[in-house]
Amino acid sequence: MKEVDVFIIGAGPAGSIAGAKLVQDGFSVKVVDKLKMPRFVIGESLLPRCNELLEDANMLNVIQEAGFQFKGGVAFKSDKGDFSALDFSKNLGQKWGSSFQVKREVFDKLLIDDAQKKGCDVEYEVEVVAYDENENIITVKNLDGSEDTYKAKKVLDASGYGRVLPRLLNLEAASHLALRRATFARVDKDKRPEGEQNGYIFVDIVGDNEAWIWNIPFSDGTTSVGVVCTEEYFTKLNMSDDEFWKHIIFNNPSASKRYADSKLIVDVNSLSGYSSAVTKLYDKNFILTGNASEFLDPVFSSGVTLALESGSKAAELTSRELKGETVDYKVEYEDYMMLGIDVFRDYVNAWYDGSLQTILFSEKKNPEITKKIVSILSGYVWDKENSFVTSSKYALEKTYEILK
Ligand SMILES: Cc1cc2nc3c(=O)[nH]c(=O)nc-3n(C[C@H](O)[C@H](O)[C@H](O)COP(=O)(O)OP(=O)(O)OC[C@H]3O[C@@H](n4cnc5c(N)ncnc54)[C@H](O)[C@@H]3O)c2cc1C
Repeated sequence: MKEVDVFIIGAGPAGSIAGAKLVQDGFSVKVVDKLKMPRFVIGESLLPRCNELLEDANMLNVIQEAGFQFKGGVAFKSDKGDFSALDFSKNLGQKWGSSFQVKREVFDKLLIDDAQKKGCDVEYEVEVVAYDENENIITVKNLDGSEDTYKAKKVLDASGYGRVLPRLLNLEAASHLALRRATFARVDKDKRPEGEQNGYIFVDIVGDNEAWIWNIPFSDGTTSVGVVCTEEYFTKLNMSDDEFWKHIIFNNPSASKRYADSKLIVDVNSLSGYSSAVTKLYDKNFILTGNASEFLDPVFSSGVTLALESGSKAAELTSRELKGETVDYKVEYEDYMMLGIDVFRDYVNAWYDGSLQTILFSEKKNPEITKKIVSILSGYVWDKENSFVTSSKYALEKTYEILK
């Protein structure tokens, strides 16, 4: 059996940032991933909070130097001509007022390579297949079918959609969000908006909120285009993924113009039932991070932010514990993470019940409210100075009542 200070399952953003921070604090870290990098994963639009977290882990320069598409904000559009563009730099004074649109196969590889350069022992095509929670022993299966075991002082689960420890330890909980489906592809040669909104993510609302479209432009001139709707709506239309994607895109006034001369460069694909939750985020020997913990919904591009935040926080707390400090994981990890997750959850719910659109499209809202919302949609969901964070549901409901 091999021994290591910290064992990390998964080399996505949560695993990379956690590993990088821990080796910089002097610990030995083993990261395994069942796949080989580069590998595709969905989730291409980042929020400004990501920059702050990467900067703190000494990893931002690698991303800044990679030539990713600059993302200055987000724009929302309806079929009926409503429009709202939010400039991330008009926030509540936070340092980072922009982020990037990234192909995750490139972004994730850069991060894990950097973590490796900083000292993480990274191995690919090694799958975690068993975990003894009491002894903190992980069993992995190698490509040739052989198995190895590791004993760690702490295990961080950063396995994303693999959800390794939630599955092995029976920690899965029901997500209270509706069952939704994303149908997505990549295209070339789209007609992008001119000027500062050129690199924005555009979110087009379809009909009476039956679906929405993401438009994520990359710096190489290609674009990620996805449609999100309930499983019920998709089934009612009785189409294949490819037919459905084309039906929605080419019947949408805005998307049909943007992609009139584009061709598909990656086949249409889909994912369903991705919202997930767990019964607990940590125990004595392990911590769940990123998508291996809770995943809400893609609408506000919060996934990578939450993965980096939780990976970063899990690393900080593990480091303090391994140096002999007493750490209150309930307060410092679970309560902390749930504050941000719950803020995003309130926004996701307000998006799907339509009240957030009313707020976003209203011309009556004052600039202070806009700044608070910009700050939240930039991923600053732990900023207790922002009343839209500390009372997010109440603030949304009150604002809606005033503006409707
Ligand atoms: C439709 C859709 C659209 C989205 N759009 C966005 C967006 O625009 N912006 C955004 O920020 N987020 C978005 N997300 C969310 C985003 O995909 C995730 O939040 C993010 O990838 C989570 O990162 P992670 O590090 O937790 O896990 P991942 O990036 O999934 O990495 C986990 C790694 O663990 C490995 N692994 C799994 N099982 C095992 C095992 N048994 N042993 C070893 N390794 C294992 C996997 O191979 C993988 O490499 C979207 C999600 C969906 C469903």
